[in-house]
Amino acid sequence: MYPEKSLYEMVIVGAGPAGISMAVEAVDKGIAAEDVILLEKSEDHSFSIRKFYPDSKLVTSNYKGHDVTCIGKLCIGDSSKQETLDYLDKFIEDYKLQVKYNYGVEEIQKLKNGQYVVCAGNECFVSKTVCIAIGVLGRPNKPSYPIPSAISSQVFFDVTSKIVEKKNVLVVGGGDSASEYAQYLHANGNKVSFSYRREKISRMNDQNKKLLEEMVSKGQCQLMLGTDIEKLEAEEGTKKIIVHFKGGDVKKFDHIFYALGGTTPENFLKGIGIKMTKEGPEVSDFFESGQEGLFILGDLTAGKGGGSINLAFNNSHRAMGEICDMYLDCKK
Ligand SMILES: Cc1cc2nc3c(=O)[nH]c(=O)nc-3n(C[C@H](O)[C@H](O)[C@H](O)COP(=O)(O)OP(=O)(O)OC[C@H]3O[C@@H](n4cnc5c(N)ncnc54)[C@H](O)[C@@H]3O)c2cc1C
Repeated sequence: MYPEKSLYEMVIVGAGPAGISMAVEAVDKGIAAEDVILLEKSEDHSFSIRKFYPDSKLVTSNYKGHDVTCIGKLCIGDSSKQETLDYLDKFIEDYKLQVKYNYGVEEIQKLKNGQYVVCAGNECFVSKTVCIAIGVLGRPNKPSYPIPSAISSQVFFDVTSKIVEKKNVLVVGGGDSASEYAQYLHANGNKVSFSYRREKISRMNDQNKKLLEEMVSKGQCQLMLGTDIEKLEAEEGTKKIIVHFKGGDVKKFDHIFYALGGTTPENFLKGIGIKMTKEGPEVSDFFESGQEGLFILGDLTAGKGGGSINLAFNNSHRAMGEICDMYLDCKK
């Protein structure tokens, strides 16, 4: 393993086909492998392939009609799921790529000097360039019990997808997002209740904890600590949600907002200030976002038709050409 560096040439967020090919292209252009780091949320690379492809699947090279002529270092022909994973494994090994697993990136900030700080948990990495390759399949964490279809349109996993005003709402969670949802929903004139399964709030920053406590002391939010939802039910003839808590308590709400961690790729990009269009994030022909030195790769920039593995490989190659022209001192 390489020693930790204080400044990387490139931090890549997500180690799927797009992220891995980006790192390979960088090393191929003469950027030292120790100056490139991949941060991957799950415990292994290519989480989407592992999770969503059936084991017996034929991985096709022209998936969804993307009949791609390969232009970069990586290219797959028709193969099995395992062969595809082995192929990516071999590039990680041969190019001595540094991949940090269980590093889910939550924050990316641009410094005044143009460099970026990329943070996963309590660890941050400073870099000249950043490539975001998190795919499109991320999702917020969901509860373990089912949400009946009759009320699914009343249940949300973020506060931005629908504006809710003057309703009786329940926020479920115990972290910063949960507190922020409660503050926002109260500001929109809603009657807010807050359910957290632990007896004590411990996962919030001081500011969010204080604001939540203030709301509770002013009667603006009903705090229900130590409450665990057992099941949801749709009320007959209304769109109200009947919430059954463990221990027998039952309450009714118009909406539930879950803040159980995780986020959609779209919200992740919006959160770091990337401009979104109907087709996805706004990028140049070389996949650079509106923020100089920050590139968006793979399925995220494949548009509504969806992407493919070879397309992700090719786009990494194109982006690397631009990165060498504009930002890094490529030796080859
Ligand atoms: C069921 C199915 C079948 C498919 N079949 C084919 C096929 O036969 N042939 C083909 O070419 N294509 C196929 N595709 C499409 C192909 O899988 C995608 O185009 C390709 O995986 C896109 O690569 P990516 O790197 O952009 O995203 P992904 O493969 O989704 O990789 C993204 C990586 O980023 C990680 N990540 C997410 N969020 C974070 C974060 N915050 N911090 C750090 N890491 C993060 C994820 O864990 C994941 O490992 C299929 C897709 C599906 C869903």
